[in-house]
Amino acid sequence: ASLSQIIDFDTAAIIAEELGCKVEKEVIVTIEEKLIDTAEDKAEDLEPRAPVVVVMGHVDHGKTSLLDYIRNANVVSGEAGGITQHIGAYQVQVKGQPITFLDTPGHEAFTAMRARGAMVTDIAILVVAADDGIMPQTVESINHAKAAGIPIIVAINKMDKPEANPERIKEQLTAYELVPEEWGGETIICPISAKTGEGIDNLLEMVNLTAEMQELKANPNRSAHGAVIEARLDKGRGPIATVLIQEGTLKQGDNFVCGPFSGRVRALTNDQGKKVKEAGPSLPVEVQGFEGVPVAGEEFFVVADEKLARRIADSRAAKQRERDLASESRVTLETFLSQRASDQETLTLNLVVKADVQGSLEAITEALNKQSTDKVHLNVVHGGTGAITESDILLASASKAIIIGFNVRPTSKIKDVAEHENVDIRFYDIIYKLVDDIKSAMAGLLAPVQREVYLGQAEVRETFSVPKIGVIAGSYVADGKIARNAGVRLLRDGVVVYTGKISSLKRFKDDAKEVVKGNECGVGLENFNDVKIGDIIEAFETVEEAATL
Ligand code: GDP
Repeated sequence: ASLSQIIDFDTAAIIAEELGCKVEKEVIVTIEEKLIDTAEDKAEDLEPRAPVVVVMGHVDHGKTSLLDYIRNANVVSGEAGGITQHIGAYQVQVKGQPITFLDTPGHEAFTAMRARGAMVTDIAILVVAADDGIMPQTVESINHAKAAGIPIIVAINKMDKPEANPERIKEQLTAYELVPEEWGGETIICPISAKTGEGIDNLLEMVNLTAEMQELKANPNRSAHGAVIEARLDKGRGPIATVLIQEGTLKQGDNFVCGPFSGRVRALTNDQGKKVKEAGPSLPVEVQGFEGVPVAGEEFFVVADEKLARRIADSRAAKQRERDLASESRVTLETFLSQRASDQETLTLNLVVKADVQGSLEAITEALNKQSTDKVHLNVVHGGTGAITESDILLASASKAIIIGFNVRPTSKIKDVAEHENVDIRFYDIIYKLVDDIKSAMAGLLAPVQREVYLGQAEVRETFSVPKIGVIAGSYVADGKIARNAGVRLLRDGVVVYTGKISSLKRFKDDAKEVVKGNECGVGLENFNDVKIGDIIEAFETVEEAATL
């Protein structure tokens, strides 16, 4: 090794010992590690805790109705009037067994939390309407639950409807490795009606049964630790967050840290709107006393005293600023490979694939699955058709996946979210190029790449038919710029309908080299006239880049 080279501890120890020196290891402990009690619990300190359940499924399949039914039927209504508070989660008693439900239906909230590292849910109830069947968000929900590694209980809802067809749904489910118990599989399926309440008792019993098998436990007698489910700024009471306690017991007066904020518990309110003095594992409580509004999914820790809490919060805020500048946690094909260089075991490259149509999605997934080798395993966490959505990005962020877009493009809002979540999105319009990139990335051989640089987007607001020239799109540049010699794509609802070149770019009557954000322009597309109002014109440049892998 040369003078300035760093060698690992073990090597240094061997050399030093040969030279007759004794080597000691200095372990650097951050203040967080010193102050936050992360000690493992002894088995005898653990006590059973309620399961935390999330309800997911396609829109209008009855998630909200189911959550409302369970709440109304099982919450002991409060004092006169029986006010129940919506604080983001609630707990019910089923035959003396508590169950905690996250009150925000859908997988977005769930995955947003997971993306921040909070694994709060133990069981997912997948709601599928018996008169509708498996829909895109049903599939997303299945994949999100699978990625989180939690058991799925299927509730076939709307059984009261005459057109309900549960058998068809069971059959559809098998395509997603959810095989009903009655057919020899392991998936619990409960036919229910969120309208009449039929089957819901059975569903809740199944939840309890599943929870029992998980042997969920926590130590209530230690400093509390939990995760933020929901947070808001209340006009009178200041920042308020619902925290789901995961370990320990939170008490009034406790000092805590939550993300870049510290605070002291001023008041605790439960899901029935009652003030409480403390809250133990699996209980959701509204906490008053935050210095700022934390984000959902942020971890919440009680620490010994106020000064220390503030120190951690300050150091986190500073780190976050650094991180914002460096954006280092991003998984890109590049970082994936550098990881490979140092790791010996099999690596998994997770991918989320979004394609324009089912046919190309199937072709891509199949082509990608064939690429897995002994050293690198390719795993398509989720595949779907249509535009890339926020939920795709959150899933990718949570599962450290790269998003592959095939003939689809993100909106500029989605780009922002991807940037914020540090998710790498790669776009392709030719399957073999996509497979080649992934393959060469896997082999560490990425040849000089033609990389696309996004320039900007314009919205088509009017169309004009000009004799001999064709259709001109009267457009407003909403982001970046549109350049005369740029490549362009025309997007309709996030799907690419045309890729080519600009044939004319005008600002008022004059030819323009480029038109920047906030201005209007007329755009003609080469050999393409089917432009419609509401379409998005996206401009890009293709640049050659040396391989960095
Ligand atoms: P979400 O979008 O999944 O939260 O679905 P909602 O709970 O809002 O329900 C969508 C629609 O389906 C509403 O009009 C409900 O009244 C209706 N609905 C929900 N569950 C049932 C059910 O079991 N039977 C019938 N007939 N209608 C239901």
